[in-house]
Amino acid sequence: MHESVEFSESPDSPRTHIGLRIIAQDPSVKGDNDKILTATVKIPWSRMEDGPRGARFHVVDFDASTGKYVKHPALPNDDVFADAEDVVLEGDFAFHAQQVYAAASRTLATFESALGRRLSWGFNGPHLHLVPHAFAEANAYYSYEDRALLFGYVPAIEGEPTYTCLSYDVVVHETAHAVLDGLRSRFLEPGLPDQAGFHEGFADIVALLSVFSMRPVVEQALGKADKDGRIKRRQVERDELRSGVLTGVAEQIGKVLTQGRGALRRSAMTPPPADWAYLPQFQEPHRRGEVLVAVVLDVLIDIWVKRLEPLLSPEQETKVATLDRVRAAEEGARASAQLLTMMIRGLDYLPPVEFEFGDLLDAVLLADAEVVPDDDLGYRDMLVDRFEMAGIRRPRNSVTNVLDAEVAPHYLGFNFAALRTDRDEIFRFLWQNALRLGVPTKYYTVVESVRPSQRIGPDGLIVVESVATYVQMLELSADELEGTSELAIPDDLDPATPVQLLGGGTLVFDQFGRLKLHIHKDLDDWRRQLRRLEYLHRTGRSDTRKRLGFSDGAARGQAFAELHNTELSTGEAW
Ligand SMILES: [Zn+2]
Repeated sequence: MHESVEFSESPDSPRTHIGLRIIAQDPSVKGDNDKILTATVKIPWSRMEDGPRGARFHVVDFDASTGKYVKHPALPNDDVFADAEDVVLEGDFAFHAQQVYAAASRTLATFESALGRRLSWGFNGPHLHLVPHAFAEANAYYSYEDRALLFGYVPAIEGEPTYTCLSYDVVVHETAHAVLDGLRSRFLEPGLPDQAGFHEGFADIVALLSVFSMRPVVEQALGKADKDGRIKRRQVERDELRSGVLTGVAEQIGKVLTQGRGALRRSAMTPPPADWAYLPQFQEPHRRGEVLVAVVLDVLIDIWVKRLEPLLSPEQETKVATLDRVRAAEEGARASAQLLTMMIRGLDYLPPVEFEFGDLLDAVLLADAEVVPDDDLGYRDMLVDRFEMAGIRRPRNSVTNVLDAEVAPHYLGFNFAALRTDRDEIFRFLWQNALRLGVPTKYYTVVESVRPSQRIGPDGLIVVESVATYVQMLELSADELEGTSELAIPDDLDPATPVQLLGGGTLVFDQFGRLKLHIHKDLDDWRRQLRRLEYLHRTGRSDTRKRLGFSDGAARGQAFAELHNTELSTGEAW
């Protein structure tokens, strides 16, 4: 017999996706049958080895607290846990391996399909290591140094231990940190207060929308249905969706990490006070990130309500009207998936440094308009309204629509193919067009990335772009900054303190290699520089040499361990 026959029947015969069963929230959340609520998620197929290990993820079940190491079998194409009982899901470490592998793969796949390209990690190397039982501690974090997501557990006093790896949202949150680090590595460096909040807020947004894009979760959250599977109209009214359904799910998010005080706390459920940006408690990254979470939750409700309209005929008597729970849940899950795609697409249009929340609004709107020119359902307006209600506005003068600009860049001698892939060609382009684009040439400038992307719009047409980022740097002393900017530095700051300033931009090219957009954070925006300096000084973010604003490379991964630990140890709500 020819070899290929046997090969085609081997467990790794290629297909596009495989379906894997996962715990949809965490083991405490039960379905209608009072069993752990699970869902089957589709993840991209990959040839598998023991670990399990695929193309992008490698499960390493090593426990640093006990020294125990287990190598689990490769995940087969047919899910061995499809009908497993709850005790197996909770207790079998091979299932834990499947849980982290499937949740992390689904998250990466969501980012890749939204951005229309493969994404690399922030570190060098193809595999992100997933460590499901890393240590006996209620913590989980992304470690750049270890190229890993580390999930801790709390040993049982009685009953089952609590495993953070079994909480789907925790795995997604940590995977989102890793993906974000690959996309905008400088966001972990000392920056403006919003930048520190962004990593946490965005990771929570991805976790929440990802959990909510699974229909079984939404069905459960909507509450009991009658014997025909129908629910009452009031169960899908805006206030009920906001304060009951979504809050119920959000409260489960991260619960396992914070001992009953959900990582998405009630504070994220309520709109922030008008002057939040200046309040001391909102200087803390988690609390600040929650502002973004609250805004996005409101947009989710807006979209869901809009999508439910056709299901609710106006002539029905409000009190008795019912609707199919599956359909209502389907609309919620779709709304979540759409909003998540929209938010992720914005990431390519963010500046590489000096991020503020308004930049996210700008970026999401710009990216969405490229792929979905007609915004029939009004999603973009909803987004603008909700951001504005939270006091977040689009920044002024930070986006130049180059196609409309009076002075067009020139392209003489440029190779369009190289402009899609080659950093040196981008630098040459920037150099030749510096004056036309308003990029100052007196600062140290480096092109950091060039990435092609292909995204498919709802009309089926492909939008082809490439996106490049460059960064500018300036080192000087605090008093030199005062002299140059003619703005006062903080009174209690030593004037001799060395300071590093950053600026930079994102260049978006169309399929012909023509520059469309220039999203820029000018280095010589002194007011912004002073705001950053003040924040870094006030929060004590100087490096070991007492310098402010310098890349603190060594602390990258550690930053998350500490950030998440602070959250645990302080115990009170910020
Ligand atoms: Zn986090």
